[in-house]
Amino acid sequence: MAKITEPTPVMKQYLDAKAKVPDALLLFRMGDFYEVFYEDAVTVAGAVGLALTTRDRDKGPNSVPMAGFPHHQLDIYLSRLIAAGFKVAVCEQLEDPKLAKGIVKRDLVRIVSPGTVTDDAILDPKKSNYLAAVSLPPKPRFAPRSDELIAAAEDSSAAAAPRTLHPDEAIGLAWVELSTGEFTAAVTPYRDLFDYLARIHPSEILISELSVCYFPAVMAEGAMLTKRPDWTFRLQTALETLLRQLGVKTLAGFGFDAQTDALALEAAGAALDYLRETQKCSLDHLDSIGKYHSGQCLEIDQATIRSLEILQTTDGRRAGSLLSVLDQCVTPMGSRLLAEWIIYPLCEIEAIRRRLDAVENLFNETSLRDSVRQHLRRVHDLARIMTRVVQGRVTPRELAAVAMTLLELPFFRQALEGSPASQLVALAGEIEPQDNLAQELLRALGEEPPLTWRDGGFIQPGYCKELDDLRDLQHGGKQWLAAYQQSESQRTGIATLRVGFNSVFGYYIEIPRSQADKAPADYVRKQTLKNAERYITEQLKAYEEKVLTAEESAKNLELKIFAQLRDATVKVRSQIQHVAAVLAQLDVLANFAHIASARGYTRPNMVSPPVLTIRDGRHPVLEQTEAPGTFTPNDAQCRPDGAMIHLITGPNMAGKSTYIRQVALLVLMAHAGSFLPASFAEIGRTDRIFARVGASDELTRGLSTFMVEMIETARILNGVTRSSLVVLDEIGRGTSTYDEISLAWAITESLLETTRCRTFFATHYHELTDLAETHDGIDNLNVAVREWGDDIAFLHKIVAGPADKSYGIHVARLAGIPSPVIHRAKRILEELESSHMDAAREAMGDLLRQVGSTPFEHPKRTESPGEQVVQFSLFGPENHPVLDELRELDPNTITPIDALTLLSRWKGELNEEDEPKEPASKKKKNR
Ligand code: ADP
Ligand code: MG
Repeated sequence: MAKITEPTPVMKQYLDAKAKVPDALLLFRMGDFYEVFYEDAVTVAGAVGLALTTRDRDKGPNSVPMAGFPHHQLDIYLSRLIAAGFKVAVCEQLEDPKLAKGIVKRDLVRIVSPGTVTDDAILDPKKSNYLAAVSLPPKPRFAPRSDELIAAAEDSSAAAAPRTLHPDEAIGLAWVELSTGEFTAAVTPYRDLFDYLARIHPSEILISELSVCYFPAVMAEGAMLTKRPDWTFRLQTALETLLRQLGVKTLAGFGFDAQTDALALEAAGAALDYLRETQKCSLDHLDSIGKYHSGQCLEIDQATIRSLEILQTTDGRRAGSLLSVLDQCVTPMGSRLLAEWIIYPLCEIEAIRRRLDAVENLFNETSLRDSVRQHLRRVHDLARIMTRVVQGRVTPRELAAVAMTLLELPFFRQALEGSPASQLVALAGEIEPQDNLAQELLRALGEEPPLTWRDGGFIQPGYCKELDDLRDLQHGGKQWLAAYQQSESQRTGIATLRVGFNSVFGYYIEIPRSQADKAPADYVRKQTLKNAERYITEQLKAYEEKVLTAEESAKNLELKIFAQLRDATVKVRSQIQHVAAVLAQLDVLANFAHIASARGYTRPNMVSPPVLTIRDGRHPVLEQTEAPGTFTPNDAQCRPDGAMIHLITGPNMAGKSTYIRQVALLVLMAHAGSFLPASFAEIGRTDRIFARVGASDELTRGLSTFMVEMIETARILNGVTRSSLVVLDEIGRGTSTYDEISLAWAITESLLETTRCRTFFATHYHELTDLAETHDGIDNLNVAVREWGDDIAFLHKIVAGPADKSYGIHVARLAGIPSPVIHRAKRILEELESSHMDAAREAMGDLLRQVGSTPFEHPKRTESPGEQVVQFSLFGPENHPVLDELRELDPNTITPIDALTLLSRWKGELNEEDEPKEPASKKKKNR
């Protein structure tokens, strides 16, 4: 900060305020402007394009850089600065500068950071906005070693290498949606922290200044990382903060135990402390806290959320995500809840069925659905408005919106009461109309009060007699004055008597000089003009006083009435918030029904055993984004008595990734309670979905692809159960071919030997298809490709069996490579493939140990030491009936169909020769 010799009193006030919030940009109210000084001015000017000036004319070394904007633009600049990732503190004038003696009193009124915003202008209506707090052990709590304290203090740069915690180490996490009052906490192993944060997607993360070194910057994923004093994370402090906020003696009622949940409570307490410090207003709407525990819903980890493009696409757009195509909710509350349902799908069959029942009911009853959605369109964002009511930041327009919404409630109640779906009837029962409050608010505010309201003028005429009188005085004053002028003129007999007003002398009675002697005794002379005398009377003086204060009194009275209306609304806060939650659910259910009906979705049959049958399934996003009718539907099936694991092979661009993503998305949607884009679906209960698709995108995150894959693969193998769904795409890319095949092979076998869970594995390595030969429970699928003249058509159809191995060479032939070269290339390829497999099998054991999975038996045919693969000479002469036949063949005269037939016959003959080498019991017929 530039040295200033002697700050003026105002600048001293500024510097004092700034010292309280060193990490925030300080907006300092001066008269009609908010001003920013020093480095803040430079930052703000650059970030939001304000002109940078200096406070004093003097441009010397002591001049103070300054930028500013008119006070009524506060919302605009606040939202721009928050969007640009800053924390902003607002320092207000606490008294009217006109009335202030000496320097105007000022203080910080609020601190706005990305995680603590409640302003409508800043928030995205369709997105929840979370503040998260993370409590990480081990922290040097009561007696920190001095070197650690120094290290922590110095470690302010995110670039400092984070120390690592053991993956099993327990950590605490809490997350708050201040704008709606949602508050949750959990204890979880450190290894799951990333997944939690990916689901919560906080915009700000609080962490103790002493444990920030354990928090890798990459975890913040774009969220603001705010360091807090360590004492706010201490259990004792946190408990006191929580008990006071929630107004309870113990947290047992919320399901928390002070001992076992200590870490969660520390995080929750720290979050509350931060909110108290920044908000400086009521937080009464934070009146409960939920406990989250793993297994309470279908879990999807961070990589799955990204791979399946659930909330946003891999390049960060909302459009093109699952959420975007499923969101046709009509209220912002519905859109936010839908995101929650998708990121926390249910895992209890009965609960899912109840949701599906409700969707089905709304699906079948078109007119009910339409009218529900019609009425929902008139529903405002009750959840967020109620928070601003509690905080005292609500506008009359918003309060009127509450009233208009409450008036819709009786409709919803009646419409749903008779529904055959128990969930809808239950929702109807939870809607408690608030007619009295709604009527009162409307009588006072009308349906649409003006947006600007600080100057009053928004309370409806007829609501309050006293207010009406004051307004009469302000506006209708002319009538009184005219009447007074007339009566005085009569009383005095002076026809030219006039009542007037002047800003210096106020109200007066003016009489021409010539008639001044007629002025009654009660006229007090005020001013003498050239041709007239001006007087005042007691009556006129009293009137003057009333008029002069009428405007101020009317404004104060309006604000008082508004405060009363706010209080009346706060009284039924929890009922209204409950209604908000009910309407949000209704919106999502109707949304599912609407989408299902518009796109021809069907109800999935949810069952307990881990099975899967999808007929004519479509990819929910691609189906919407591709030209209508061009998407090719596909089946999928996993049965314990058949194949649970599917290897999908096929050339690039055939549709492998699309297919396996589609299966995972449909399973997820079913658990969220949605109908599915399929002609039939039976989905078994699923506890976790692991999807790894498109790993190359990880490169942008600064970690090597292979390393990431190894970590994630370890997590899959450690985390899967019988009820999980695993979807893997080209695992092992970014390393050598041997590694890739080995890894893929090992993982598949491990899944098979351990949990045998539903698995879809896309690979372009045909070597893997051999697995299906030797193991039950695995089968091969491939994506059909058709040659048509010189063209190749991708049919996008999933069919049984492995892909055609020589596909690449076919392409070469089509490209005009001479047939002897093609023939030779084919033999070489076969040999290379078989030696790859050899190496792959050897590497398998090592890799398994690397990824930390349970060891399992290797496939039998690689075990026997006697069975060495015969060394094949690439250059030796070959004599074989198939070869002879090939030599005689003229590729130029044969049709593609005949070529295929020939090829499969040759392949069959060659395979028969290999037969005795393989264990007969495992051999399958279909190859
Ligand atoms: P692969 O993973 O086999 O390389 P993708 O799954 O990425 O192939 O699919 C490539 C493209 O093919 C997709 O972007 C999509 O446009 C198209 N596609 C895939 N599956 C289908 C399908 N079932 N119907 C229509 N088009 C599809
Ligand atoms: Mg692919």
